[in-house]
Amino acid sequence: MDDRQFRNAMGKFATGVTVVLTEVSGKVHGMTANAFMSVSLNPKLVVISIAEKAQMLKKIKQSGTFSVNILAAGQKELSMIFAGQLKEQRQVVFDYLGNIPVIPGAIAQIICEVSASHVEGDHTLFIGKVTNIQLEEELPLIYYSGKYRSLKEENG
Ligand code: FAD
Ligand code: NAD
Repeated sequence: MDDRQFRNAMGKFATGVTVVLTEVSGKVHGMTANAFMSVSLNPKLVVISIAEKAQMLKKIKQSGTFSVNILAAGQKELSMIFAGQLKEQRQVVFDYLGNIPVIPGAIAQIICEVSASHVEGDHTLFIGKVTNIQLEEELPLIYYSGKYRSLKEENG
């Protein structure tokens, strides 16, 4: 099967957009990710999937902690920044929840400790034990078929 067909099929699954953040030696590193899923309620676990070629892989291995920040509808530019889709570098200001960096204005800031990792094909799955959460009441940014979208609210 050709890669394009696989990607086109996976792109049919509409998702939110997250920015994963981690901090190593006082330096915050961010990466846009839509491969994110809730795994377990008791204990509270989530999973992210990080490509072997991503800088983020070795950073999370070093730090053992990360935050998953679910972006709000107005945060498309942040998604582009952390996916390397903008030509110029941008200065981003981070907040902290406990001692873990988070994206201000994200609709969910989810703090995780790595509880397991599994190499699968060309990605590593990090299972995150959720230790803290902060929520905002805003609509999410949506990603579908390789394009950013927004939710249309139905009346009634
Ligand atoms: P880099 O490419 O070095 O960093 C990413 C970008 O973030 C760079 O432009 C960098 O300048 C910027 N950046 C990092 N830290 C900071 C900071 N502190 N301040 C300012 N800018 C900073 N890949 C996956 O592996 N898994 C996924 O689930 C996934 N989902 C994606 C979903 C979407 C919608 C998109 C668009 C891309 C997705 N990607 C995913 C691809 C991934 O986001 C890119 O390949 C990304 O460039 C990989 O980041 P990196 O860790 O290699 O670091
Ligand atoms: P796209 O049309 O290639 O992606 C559509 C869907 O295919 C994505 O939402 C994802 O579910 C899947 N996909 C894409 N690349 C993948 C990969 N390397 N490994 C596993 N699944 C993958 O392109 P796009 O959505 O416009 O993405 C822009 C860039 O970000 C591309 O370089 C893409 O490879 C990368 N990306 C990577 C992942 C990932 O690694 N899980 C997810 C989304 C996007």
